[in-house]
Amino acid sequence: MTIRLSPLLGELIAELERIPGLGPRSAQRAAMHLLREGRVPALRALLDKVDANLHRCPLCNTFTEKEICDVCADETRSPVHLCVVESVGDQMALDASLSWGGQYYVLDGRLNPIEGRGPEAIGMGGLFERLRKAEADGKAFQEVVVATSYTPEGDATAYYLIEALGRRWPSLHVTRLARGLPSGLEIEYTDLNTLANAVYGRRRVLRNDKTPDES
Ligand SMILES: [Zn+2]
Repeated sequence: MTIRLSPLLGELIAELERIPGLGPRSAQRAAMHLLREGRVPALRALLDKVDANLHRCPLCNTFTEKEICDVCADETRSPVHLCVVESVGDQMALDASLSWGGQYYVLDGRLNPIEGRGPEAIGMGGLFERLRKAEADGKAFQEVVVATSYTPEGDATAYYLIEALGRRWPSLHVTRLARGLPSGLEIEYTDLNTLANAVYGRRRVLRNDKTPDES
């Protein structure tokens, strides 16, 4: 006779396995830890609180428990410069590098046609809406930095975005982070100096008639 896992425990492990970075073995270890250490009630209470209070910032799409997140509410930041990142982790890394004093828009990852993740699935509609709204309010953005990673999917996302921005806003100044970033490395895991240099050395990827910052 073989030992069979409790179906409910199996369900818990399967759910934990859906978390990126957790394979079957680590999911099983995490599940056993929660049960053995009696952490389930605390985790349940916390998850309920997170579920009830965390929502997307209507401006930048990050998670916040306030109406508008702290970054968007910060009036010392430039209102006309917008940096598009792939994740909250990327946003935090860029901000920690102190190289960016503008606004952010956080996408939900990168384009991945194989997994069926198209522009809408990663939140590009929300980004275009933000740009449209800013324009309608008379506070149009002057520059959008496409800060996706230099990975195949990050490149594909950047190319799509650059083309879409150029088509919708022909006079927008569109830049991409400098190539100092190591190939294949995710922004979140890049050291802060390299990241800061990439922001300072960002290059234009669309050339338009209006060049606000260039003399
Ligand atoms: Zn925000």
